[in-house]
Amino acid sequence: MTKNADSVWSKCLSFIKDNIKPQAYKTWFEPIVPVKLSASALTIQVPSKFFYEWLEEHYIKILRMALTKELGSDAKLIYDVKMENAYSSKKPHTVKFPSSNRKPLNSQGITVPLEIDKRELRNPFIIPGIQKVKIESQLNPNYNFDNFIEGDSNRLARSAGIAVANKPGGTSFNPLLIYGGVGLGKTHLAHAIGVDIKDKYPDKTVLYISAEMFIQQYIDSVKGNTRNDFIHFYQMIDVLIVDDVQFLSGKKGTQDVFFHIFNHLHQNGKQVILTSDKAPVDMQEMEQRLLSRFKWGLSAELQSPDFETRMSILENKLYRDGVVMPEEIVEYIAKNIKTNVRELEGVLISMIAQASFNKKEYTLALAKVIVDKFVKNTKKEVSIDYIQKVVSKYFEMDVTTLQSKTRKRHIVQARQLAMYFAKRLTKASLASIGSQIGSRDHATVLHACKTVNNLSETDRQFRVYVEDLTKKLTL
Ligand code: ADP
Ligand code: MG
Repeated sequence: MTKNADSVWSKCLSFIKDNIKPQAYKTWFEPIVPVKLSASALTIQVPSKFFYEWLEEHYIKILRMALTKELGSDAKLIYDVKMENAYSSKKPHTVKFPSSNRKPLNSQGITVPLEIDKRELRNPFIIPGIQKVKIESQLNPNYNFDNFIEGDSNRLARSAGIAVANKPGGTSFNPLLIYGGVGLGKTHLAHAIGVDIKDKYPDKTVLYISAEMFIQQYIDSVKGNTRNDFIHFYQMIDVLIVDDVQFLSGKKGTQDVFFHIFNHLHQNGKQVILTSDKAPVDMQEMEQRLLSRFKWGLSAELQSPDFETRMSILENKLYRDGVVMPEEIVEYIAKNIKTNVRELEGVLISMIAQASFNKKEYTLALAKVIVDKFVKNTKKEVSIDYIQKVVSKYFEMDVTTLQSKTRKRHIVQARQLAMYFAKRLTKASLASIGSQIGSRDHATVLHACKTVNNLSETDRQFRVYVEDLTKKLTL
């Protein structure tokens, strides 16, 4: 059988595929097209100058091994590089680059100065060409603007999202940080922006990733010695959406790498969209330099929807699902589930399921049972941070005052109440409560709990504090 460019390259590919990470293979080898084979020189077409440099820098060894296997020790590699010149109206054309792989195997791969068409290189940024690399955007088309109901609670975030989608990287909302509590639509809105951008700018590389996944990928890249590939992969993206960035808290290595990726993207006019369950000021254990970047653009909060918005969300969902439900039932649900859109939908789904499995009607009684279950099961899980904030606010002091070493009575009391509620409402250990509330030890926390119990039995004013705070923290 005579060899041709396709057959040689496909053999090279199967060798390469076995020897590098699947993601790297996908990114750097799948886009390559074999063009020509003459004698022992194989010409391959790559999407950009940058791509060619990357291959030469990182994969020259494996390329050389593969080619030598197929074509013998004289094997040569020539790149056809697609050039796109932003300053001329010329159609994209290709330029040939020889690989440094012109030397026989035994030489140590010293890169030979390349003869490059100098006119094309005036500005390294005119030839990104990376859009040619296909990156799966991981977007969920079911989360779009059409089904993201607008209300006072989300108007700013939603409009900013639309502005960003119209001109990714071209507004001052960069990064756009969407923050707010659980189930308020952060993930939905983040996808909606990405989906809309993909719609308007199909050539842009959009990537949605959860911060947890990002952290995992980073850890894997460190283990696999592919940290540079990891960084480079992210630096090629036009619109990067990172969901739940609060998970980067305390992860120094990932924060560092994200900082570099962020800077690169931002400097190159690429859009970054972030979501978080906290405002930047409240993100603990996040490096200052990263926090300051988060604040560069716009931080838009998603708040709990008001009654009208909750009604619209429910009605819209019913309409889309083709379900008809008596108005009073919909109202009952909207009245009783207040702080979480996910729960609002959850009740609706339970209603529909119950009614259809058990051939029941949609009745107010059924709605009550289901709403009750939801309200019970999802008792708000509070954090020690949140407790400290609520207690400080109640006593009109700062959290730092509450945590301070002072022995002033009203401050000591506030601190003891915070410890007491942390014990009562979280699963944290005494030691961990102590360390989070002003670096105290577990004995101090235990003492605080006892004091609060005693005082609330003997001191009427103190009992009012406990009752008020209980309401604030659990309702
Ligand atoms: P978060 O990421 O803030 O925890 P999600 O984006 O996952 O919240 O939203 C929870 C659910 O509520 C999703 O099913 C989402 O579609 C829905 N949702 C949230 N806000 C809205 C809204 N304004 N309109 C329609 N559905 C919404
Ligand atoms: Mg989410």
